[in-house]
Parts: sequence; C-alpha cells; structure tokens
Amino acid sequence: MKFGSFLFSPETVEGFDIHVYRLKPETGTIGTPKEGMYNNIACFGDNTNALKHPEWVSISKDGPALRTNKRYNFRWDILCMTNPEYREWILGFIENAAKVASGITLSSIHFADHGFCVCSRCVELWRQSGLNWMEWRTQTVTKFIEEASERVKKWDKPFLVGLLPDPVLSKERFGIDFDALAPYADAFIVPIFSKSYATPWHFETLARSLKSVLKKPVYINIYVYGPGDNPKEVPTVSELLKVSARVCRTGVDGVLFLAENAQRLRDFQKAALQAEDVLKEIEDYGADEFLKLIDKWRNLS
Ligand SMILES: [Zn+2]
Repeated sequence: MKFGSFLFSPETVEGFDIHVYRLKPETGTIGTPKEGMYNNIACFGDNTNALKHPEWVSISKDGPALRTNKRYNFRWDILCMTNPEYREWILGFIENAAKVASGITLSSIHFADHGFCVCSRCVELWRQSGLNWMEWRTQTVTKFIEEASERVKKWDKPFLVGLLPDPVLSKERFGIDFDALAPYADAFIVPIFSKSYATPWHFETLARSLKSVLKKPVYINIYVYGPGDNPKEVPTVSELLKVSARVCRTGVDGVLFLAENAQRLRDFQKAALQAEDVLKEIEDYGADEFLKLIDKWRNLS
C-alpha cells in the first residue's frame, strides 16, 4: 500500500510515499505547478470561473450547478463540460502542470449530477451524436479523460483520475463509466471526505465496494483538516485512526490524507502517536500496512 498527503500548499510531509499539491482546487484559485510532487487539478468545479463567467455554469431544469441550488449537494460551483474555450484552456493547463509535476491527479472531471447539462450547446451536441442521453454524457466524460491522459502521457507522467464515492450510480449521475475510464487511468482516487468519521463502518463499506468495482488501483482520500476549518469541527484523531485502519483492511491500494498544509498533517502524525489507547484498539483490525505506517511515523520523531 501507498500512503500520501493531499495538501492545499506545495509542501511535502515526511512519512508519506506520495505528495499531492492541490494546484487548482475547486475554489478556482491557481497556484504554480510544483516539481517533485503530484499536482492535483479540479477540472469543472471552479468557483472563480463560475463567478466571472456565469454563462459557463452548467444548468439543469432544476436550476444551475451552483452551491446556492439546494435541490442538489454542490460543495462548489460547476462549469459546463462542453464549453470549447474552457475545455481547451483546462487541457492546456493540465499539460503545463504535467511538464513539471511528478504526476497529475484530476478531480471534478464529470457532469455536475443527474439532470446536467441541458444548456443549448450540450443538447445540440447530444442530438448530433445519435447516442442516448446517458451514453452521450458518458462518452463526453470519457473523451475528456482520454484527451487529458494524452496531455499527461506526452510527458511520461502518471495519471490518476479522481472519482466520487458512488460505486453504483456514478454513470447515471455524473457520466462516469468506471470501465471506460480504467484504460486511461494509472489509478483512481476516491474521496470519502467527512468532517466526522463517527460511523467508520459506512466508509469501510464504501472503500470495499469501490475496490471491488474499479479495475485500476484505488486510493481512498480521507479528510483530516481543510482550509479555514474550525478545529472543533474536524474529525477527531481517534476517528481518523479507526477509519484509516478499517479502510486499509479492505484491500485498497493506498490512502491519501487531505489537509490544509504540511503542519496540519504533522500535527495529525504527532497526535496519532500519542493516541496509545486507540493504537492498541486498532492493533487487531487486520490493517498491518497502516500499523507499519504508524511505526514509520514513530521513527521520524
Ligand atoms: Zn452544457
């Protein structure tokens, strides 16, 4: 198993195998591509461009793909996937990052949710395709990933594709066809973000299901401490240790930990080593790789 950091700052943290920098998160802020790290790019989730170009926002009969649309669960604003101007820009951005990064991971690669996108351009493209609606949406996402993978492979870098934690309805909801994407992806990353892991059984179940349906290595992304979080509203160290151990025993290929910056993850490492009761508790969970990671952290200090 591999373990990694997934940070909003271009920093590495000792004690991890993979280091991911969120070069362009869904807020739409853009950093500088970082050498020696995987660079993560959110493609169509983009609050900045949604604000700047309201006409680029994806639409449904139940309103736009904006955080203000309470019919859906949008944590960020989402752009239409077929806008040629934006599509070309984001592909170029991906390629530029691939030139310098150790690898590329993409997030937000898909349609906003079921019912999207019914802008006049999407409807016209669908009509011209001769495909049914679901097939057209799936093909649109797959083609985007095919092109993005070409831009990354040109620089001979690993290409990791971010999905959403829905093992059953990803195709219907987002146009994500796991099997169609698998040939282009070196691995899949699936976030199971939550500000509480009080019921780890659910997350373990999700990880197990995803590992079972995905045909490339699966990395699960766990939420430690996001930018601007209230310290009282982030997962406890005990929850993080238990959920990580339970995810690790499902046979997934890796776990990434999301944090605002390197210091937040170092704080987590330190707190994990001090949580002796919890470490004792997870000893018999059957998560040997995770216990080895904890030992590795012990030897850093
Ligand atoms: Zn559209």
